[in-house]
Amino acid sequence: MDVKISTLLNATQRLEGFVYEHTRLCGGGLRIEVEVRAHRQRAARCSQCQCLAPGYDHLEVREWLGIPLWGIDVWLRYAPRRVTCPTHGVIVEHMPWNEGKNTLTVSMMVFLAQWARRLSIKEVGVVFRVGWHRVFQAVDWVVQWGLEHRTLAGLVGVGIDELHWGKGQRNKAYVTLIYQVDKCQRRVLGIVRGHAQKDLRRGLRRLGPEALASVRYVCSDMWKAYLTVIPQWFRGAVHMIDRFHVTQLLNQAVDKVRRTDMAAMKGRPQAKRIKGLRWTILRRFSRVRGRARQALTRMMSTRLATGRAWQLKEAFLHFWSYRSTRCAREFLRAWVSRAKRSRIGPMQKFAATLQRHEPMLLNWIQARDEIMTGAVEGLNNKCRVVTRRAYGYRSFAVLEVMLYHTLGKLPMPELTHRF
Ligand SMILES: [Zn+2]
Repeated sequence: MDVKISTLLNATQRLEGFVYEHTRLCGGGLRIEVEVRAHRQRAARCSQCQCLAPGYDHLEVREWLGIPLWGIDVWLRYAPRRVTCPTHGVIVEHMPWNEGKNTLTVSMMVFLAQWARRLSIKEVGVVFRVGWHRVFQAVDWVVQWGLEHRTLAGLVGVGIDELHWGKGQRNKAYVTLIYQVDKCQRRVLGIVRGHAQKDLRRGLRRLGPEALASVRYVCSDMWKAYLTVIPQWFRGAVHMIDRFHVTQLLNQAVDKVRRTDMAAMKGRPQAKRIKGLRWTILRRFSRVRGRARQALTRMMSTRLATGRAWQLKEAFLHFWSYRSTRCAREFLRAWVSRAKRSRIGPMQKFAATLQRHEPMLLNWIQARDEIMTGAVEGLNNKCRVVTRRAYGYRSFAVLEVMLYHTLGKLPMPELTHRF
């Protein structure tokens, strides 16, 4: 039996209330045109409320780009009817493959969006010859659909994080991210531009009070705006400082010491010892091997401030292994007083920061088993990758859509066939 194109289309993308009629190959074999016709026995439906409504008139033929067949573009052609809906008046009919004024069919949008989780928008546009803009439109639509259909019930752990995006230090150069980091799920829940109090509030408001009500653990960095807003919005939840952010801050302090040492020894042979040690110093000693380890040991013998800062950094690692908050507190206080006596500016500053946030650091020790402790760091890294890939995107809107699409674990409209 010969298989007609309309048979294939019916088998993979059936249209409720409509039939595929004539198909023809044109444009020198580059284009398949498919005429769509309304089912004779079925009345039209209103596009707003989908209730049956009597016909009013016909509009001009419109075209929609569908999923390609053997690399050939497939265009659906149909002249939409207008109906008289008791509620919505004269309005265009419901067409199951259509979405607003979009020139892509719904299944094509889902198809492109699925690929855009694996490839960049640009690459998808090139592979399927539809261009960047159409792929973005498709992803944008699928993301909005996903946001409307996702479920936020039962959130237990939430992480609040920031990313630098753009130039300078102004508020708009940051992005605030809200993650789910509990045992059932890790995903991006919200993205807002800026990292001021009002920005975080805007992001939380969007999730809605019902979604936030079940949250019992909140993880964040030590950014003051977040520390102010979190207790107001998550009453009764345990607020902890994430390990990842503390480590980041400590590493920055150690690196500052190293740079000061380097500047002081400019031109002298010792300068060589710490030059190029940047990443080695920040690693855990147990993970430093071979030549790097030798270089590190040599540096330690020079009695530089960098060496002492490094020792403090290594000693602090122990904090994270505590199970009892009482022991952790003792350790923390001893470490802080040791760092404060070190006479190394950046380390003293870091110690003061820890001291100010002691209760929230101890909350981490107490509640770490309730959340996925590596999740904030993992999501932060993944967001960074998307942001970097999105460096060409000048607009925040594109970044937002791509972050939701790749890391939001949003549901997608289901296609009956896997393409
Ligand atoms: Zn209606």
